[in-house]
Amino acid sequence: MKEVRVRFAPSPTGALHIGGVRTALYNFLLARKHKGTMILRIEDTDQNRFVPGAEEYILESLAWAGIEIDEGVSKGGPYAPYKQSERKAIYQKYAQQLLNEGKAYYAFDTEQELEAMRERLKSLHSSDQQYGSGTRMQMKNSLTLSDEEVKQKISSGQPYVIRLIVPPNEDVKLNDLIRGEVHVNSSQIDDKVLMKSDGMPTYHLANVVDDYLMKISHVIRGEEWLPSAPLHVLLYKFFGWENEMPQFAHLPLLLKADGNGKLSKRDADKAGFPIFPLNWTDPKTKEFSTGFRENGYLPEALLNFLAFLGWNPGTEQEIFSIKELTEAFTLERIGKAGAKFDIHKAQWYNQQYLRTKTDEELTAYLLHSLEKESIECTKEKALKVCASMKERVTYPQDFWEHGKFFFITPTQFDEQLISKKWNDDVVKYLSSFVDEINQLSTIDALIAKSTLEKVAQTTSISSGKIMQMLRVALTGGAAGPDLMMTMEIIGKEETCNRILYALKNFKIKVS
Ligand code: GLU
Repeated sequence: MKEVRVRFAPSPTGALHIGGVRTALYNFLLARKHKGTMILRIEDTDQNRFVPGAEEYILESLAWAGIEIDEGVSKGGPYAPYKQSERKAIYQKYAQQLLNEGKAYYAFDTEQELEAMRERLKSLHSSDQQYGSGTRMQMKNSLTLSDEEVKQKISSGQPYVIRLIVPPNEDVKLNDLIRGEVHVNSSQIDDKVLMKSDGMPTYHLANVVDDYLMKISHVIRGEEWLPSAPLHVLLYKFFGWENEMPQFAHLPLLLKADGNGKLSKRDADKAGFPIFPLNWTDPKTKEFSTGFRENGYLPEALLNFLAFLGWNPGTEQEIFSIKELTEAFTLERIGKAGAKFDIHKAQWYNQQYLRTKTDEELTAYLLHSLEKESIECTKEKALKVCASMKERVTYPQDFWEHGKFFFITPTQFDEQLISKKWNDDVVKYLSSFVDEINQLSTIDALIAKSTLEKVAQTTSISSGKIMQMLRVALTGGAAGPDLMMTMEIIGKEETCNRILYALKNFKIKVS
């Protein structure tokens, strides 16, 4: 196999979409698997769509996710520069080559003239309304004007573009590693603009020239680029680079969870989940979007989740470290069908990865949250809290968000449950329980348990009947970590106080 050199080639037109992270990941996995090179190229030739901060955002997102770049923007390398706006002269040279060889031409048509052409063809009910083999000889370009006129127009500073001469009726074949053989008749392709009037190349020219010069072996990108691929194949041919043409792999679309249509930012916003890796504020609209990072997703969990959006290992195994993914990943196992983006699966991965953390690591999350709240806590207590909550958390911040009652006496209670379950038996049981604990010097989970059993016996009330009310009294809510452990952690005094508060304030519903 040829040396594997892959590139992630985003345009800095806004925040990186999560689909872009998946594209970067697949490139990265292939590079690592074959001990190849992962390149980051910034495709910023469309000046109108340039968004300040977007490039930095891309770099930070990849760094956070752990997708390492070997060569490219911010890293350098033998084919620098890796930012297309800094490679203008290179594209001009290659456009000139095509002009010299009669494979491209200057076109001077104004926007109005192009519009008039389309209108004319429309009124003739022509099926072919593009600037191409059927129309180019009626337009204002270097194929229809004399050399003198062309020279004069250029020297007088008239705006022009350079277009490719796309031959009619040729079968353009593309071998996509995911989709198989794709055939397109060249008559469907218009004479694409290669160089724009601002002296910048279009995406097509810059992309092909750079993939060639940077010795890219595989172009792995989103399915939305598949329609452009035949044109790219033509360009490789025109340049005489067929033998150096990279292999193509167009990745399946990311779909909504129900499989109905493309996943959009609007859907994500509506359902309340992020679609960008990091927080992002659009510099123009000031619209703020939350990121996976800030929502508490662990990068390794997110990558594992993303890896499975379109690819599968062919086994039941779902948890894969990056190293395991690298070993198992092959382009052949990427499917054609769109991949359903189910945020619950991402949450599940996050839970699984959190559970693999050591208690020390989990404690650090909690202590971090507590520090922000200016709440002091011993390491010992934090360790216990985390151990008791570990199986129930989805995000690192849940230790604090769902475990506030370990640190702050609850002031809000599940009133609905209280009105259903708070009764004479509960009052009798809990009063007796408080009395018992009060006589002890301290409690721990075991003592709490045996004391509860003792009270059940003396009152002849089963503890099963009062457990939920005890939980509401201690934590405010109806669900949470092990209650005995909760009592051990908050301690004897706080346990008594909270039960006494409930005894005083919870009301028995009279029906
Ligand atoms: N600049 C294109 C993008 O923004 C890259 C497409 C490709 O990888 O060829 O997605």
